[in-house]
Amino acid sequence: MGDCLFCKIVDKKIPAAVVHEDDHTLAFDDINPQAPVHTLVIPKRHVDSVHALDARDEVLLGRLLISCNQVARLKGLVEPGFRLVANTGRDGGQTVSHLHFHVLGGRRMTWPPG
Ligand code: 5GP
Ligand code: ZN
Repeated sequence: MGDCLFCKIVDKKIPAAVVHEDDHTLAFDDINPQAPVHTLVIPKRHVDSVHALDARDEVLLGRLLISCNQVARLKGLVEPGFRLVANTGRDGGQTVSHLHFHVLGGRRMTWPPG
């Protein structure tokens, strides 16, 4: 996906504060943090969104969640807890069309979300 922002971050064409990386996933801090910890976890391969996932992505999804867990460990969020968010589509508030999980923590989250 030539003009995808997060693909450019994967390709190191746009800099990012990388928190964790493995062969299939990349985690980097959000440029506009909504909490003391706000890190994005993405697949290195372009996937539009949660709605684009199918059975072939089972292993990738597991890797993404394990990467989120690794971010939580590295950021000290395991004991206090954290929130995982995957905004999906227009009503979900998705602004970047490359699948990403937000890892949010470092403060008490509220519910319901806005
Ligand atoms: P969404 O709104 O799609 O759920 O999340 C997209 C997130 O990407 C937003 O929280 C936004 O702040 C973040 N973001 C947008 N552009 C950049 C960028 O160039 N670098 C980083 N690190 N984060 C970005
Ligand atoms: Zn992409």
